[in-house]
Amino acid sequence: MAKFQINILGCGSATPTARHQPSCQVVNFRDKLFMIDCGEGAQSQFRCMGLKFSRLNHIFISHLHGDHLFGLPGLLSTMALHEVSGSVTIHIFRDGARLMKEWMDFFNRNSPFEIIYDVIEEGERRIVYEDGGLTVETFPLYHRTPCTGFIFREKPKLRHLRGDMVKFHNIPIAMLQAVKEGADFVREDGMVIPNALLTSPADPSVSYAYCSDTMMDLRVAADISGVDTVYHEATYDGSMA
Ligand SMILES: [Zn+2]
Repeated sequence: MAKFQINILGCGSATPTARHQPSCQVVNFRDKLFMIDCGEGAQSQFRCMGLKFSRLNHIFISHLHGDHLFGLPGLLSTMALHEVSGSVTIHIFRDGARLMKEWMDFFNRNSPFEIIYDVIEEGERRIVYEDGGLTVETFPLYHRTPCTGFIFREKPKLRHLRGDMVKFHNIPIAMLQAVKEGADFVREDGMVIPNALLTSPADPSVSYAYCSDTMMDLRVAADISGVDTVYHEATYDGSMA
């Protein structure tokens, strides 16, 4: 089964403490790393957890409060020292992109990797990342400043071939991909073999929602409805649980 792992680097609000760092986590999906928020101390935790800079190409920032992004300039500077190549895309609100660009242009002019800024608009619901197996989409949260959550959705997987049936009907190799995608098989004598006899169901796809600072709002519940796993930050005492 493909790896879908959440590493929580920081879960405390506002300030670092002896027990925990401000918000940061890293989703590992098939050995690609996706960072969500980047509070102070993120790069130290990243290294303590044995994560690899070279696998980190996308960073998603939920909102422009310091406890969610003060770790970003330091992390990017360290990545430059480690000769990370290629590009790093930062998904962030417009003012954050402007500030980060100024900062990086001043301190990190000769970065060996390109920094791409993907500007998120307030209230936006958009797929901000997509590859062959995964999408990441934004949805609005309701905070003192524009704020977004992120939903990671594994794309639907292919059905499993039944080896015995493939052999029995002598299905050519060139046809196997189409059968995995759900096609029936038509034999040379014209007989149609339904896909359900040739395959077993695909593994379920997983989904994960990250909700950072937000007021209680039922629109959030609607946006994350049906997601397998939800991570929700909260800065209240137990009586509000
Ligand atoms: Zn905040």
